[in-house]
Amino acid sequence: MDASITPETAPQRKALMELRSVSKIYGSGQAEVRALDGVNLTISEGEFVAIMGPSGSGKSTAMNMLGCLDTPSNGSFLFQDVDVGALSRDQRALLRRHFLGFVFQGFNLLARSDALENVELPLIYQGMNASLRRKRAMEALAHVGLKGRERHFPGELSGGQQQRVAVARAIVTAPKVLLADEPTGNLDTKMSVEIMELLKALNRAEGITIIMVTHEAEMASYADRIIQFEDGRIKSDGQTREVA
Ligand code: ADP
Repeated sequence: MDASITPETAPQRKALMELRSVSKIYGSGQAEVRALDGVNLTISEGEFVAIMGPSGSGKSTAMNMLGCLDTPSNGSFLFQDVDVGALSRDQRALLRRHFLGFVFQGFNLLARSDALENVELPLIYQGMNASLRRKRAMEALAHVGLKGRERHFPGELSGGQQQRVAVARAIVTAPKVLLADEPTGNLDTKMSVEIMELLKALNRAEGITIIMVTHEAEMASYADRIIQFEDGRIKSDGQTREVA
């Protein structure tokens, strides 16, 4: 053991999100479904986590919870020590707007807006002035390797480029956490690898915490930690080996 590492100097990773005995129950009586069934989970700042599991195992329900879109039926969800279940709908929306970025399988870009306008959108919701907004959006697009494509519409970009625009839109607000729901589900292998490299770089260089749902073991291997869901519970939770 390294004697120079004391509790004070050891790199302490702060708990960012915590599910405490969380259940999510839909329906009642015979029709009751426990989408989450007493889940305990802590995600620390700077982690890159992959969530896996068969269809119906509770992945989306967990992501909705972590994304502050939904609240537990029982138990509590803490985001930076704040009990999200006790917040109003509007307070949760504010929390999302300032701390979270979302990336989806289907990119979810506005088809009639160009890349720059798509990336500016969350900043409009934040009430940022037009010139600063433009500057930030240009920077975010450059960051994801799309310098020179700012004025392209989604239909003029490849799937991989569209997902890059979506990643730029998700990081333009400098979120603490990026939640990605099957971000490579609509992409071929080459583009998938590019997106995973981009997410990994954002995690490593910017320290953005990433939580990603994926069905593909190859994509999950980019994460530091893989959590497997089954029947609304965590079946396994472990660190991965670094991918070279
Ligand atoms: P996954 O994302 O792993 O496919 P989900 O979290 O979507 O799993 O679903 C977990 C379980 O909860 C499934 O049995 C699903 O049918 C059920 N479920 C999810 N959302 C609802 C809902 N709004 N109403 C009723 N049942 C739901």
